[in-house]
Amino acid sequence: MKIIGTNIADVTATWISCPIPFEKQHTSDFGRISSFDMALVVVTLENGMIGYGEAKAAVGSQGSCEALVSIIEKEFKPQLIGKDATQISRIWSLLYNGSRSGYGETRGRSFHVLGRRGIWISAMSGIDLALWDLAGKRLNAPVLDLVGGAVRDKMDAYASGGWADVNTIGEQLRSYVEHGFKSVKMRIGVMDGPVSASVARVTAAREALGPDYDIMVDAHGTYNPTEAQEFSRRTADLNLRWFEEPVSADARKAMTAVRRDAPMPISMGESEFTCFDFQDLIDREAADILQPDMAICGGFTEGLKISALAVSNQLELAPHCWGSAISFSAGLTLAFASPAASIIEFSLGANPFLQDLVSQNINADNGTFSPPTGAGWGLTINNDFVAEFAR
Ligand SMILES: [Mg+2]
Repeated sequence: MKIIGTNIADVTATWISCPIPFEKQHTSDFGRISSFDMALVVVTLENGMIGYGEAKAAVGSQGSCEALVSIIEKEFKPQLIGKDATQISRIWSLLYNGSRSGYGETRGRSFHVLGRRGIWISAMSGIDLALWDLAGKRLNAPVLDLVGGAVRDKMDAYASGGWADVNTIGEQLRSYVEHGFKSVKMRIGVMDGPVSASVARVTAAREALGPDYDIMVDAHGTYNPTEAQEFSRRTADLNLRWFEEPVSADARKAMTAVRRDAPMPISMGESEFTCFDFQDLIDREAADILQPDMAICGGFTEGLKISALAVSNQLELAPHCWGSAISFSAGLTLAFASPAASIIEFSLGANPFLQDLVSQNINADNGTFSPPTGAGWGLTINNDFVAEFAR
């Protein structure tokens, strides 16, 4: 039965940039982070219903969303007006295949436009997340209920932070576990200088936490293959939960070599686009843990395909969550729905988009989350906050 008014009436994208107070800023290889940025996507239906999505211009906090806004409002909007918002996969195919989407529908394969990777796919992610929000709201159900419900009752979260130097990293990570987290992630890589400096910081972290907590390390893809192999060799006895992005996402052959030699699991995927990129990681035997970002990889629609790849290859799925409450809720939903997921990222950096963009309180309870509730992504957007920080 056709529900009245589900055609798309309007699409907007707004670059929101919220400054981070100086005392809450952190510094990594991305520099000193002074703002959190996102593109907020709003899809309005003819019946007045509103769905919210998020598109990211960077894997970290800070980035210009000018291009995202332009793609969404100037390229996508004219194609979307009048389309039935209930046909989420069909709209995904329309934006991916452009004028050849009819061939995609009848032949069942990709006839993609030039923007098959990169910022174009991030922009598509924002539209896709808004359409899933609308799908849940239309049925007055969490998106999780639309995709088979939760595989588990609770989801462990890991505290993601760990920028402090060798003398204070133990204290910083202990402050995370005091909030109930059983797992913590710290940054390493070229920001430390030589590999030995990262090894010293991770050794200090393990000494401070003892053996009962999981420690992950994230090099943000900054090592060359030799450095990554040196790091993994010298930390082999520290029982690391995973080594994230040892080398650049462009170093495809090196990924395979690093994983082959590493004594700990290797994770990656936050700057990969679509299921095709994740299929490539799998073909290359490059990763043990896949980390798609719902506001980058192509949205929840693509997240479901990547989850299926993780399941069929018996890999772990751990969605990357370094954005707003919208992409966090989408990543949490995917993790609850996927048999391959057992842990979710929770940012311990300053993040106004988790706490102030929405009226809900997004916080781990003793280091864990329960399945999302509420219609769609279960979020109420704070329009005053959006108006204050819109650029
Ligand atoms: Mg990372």
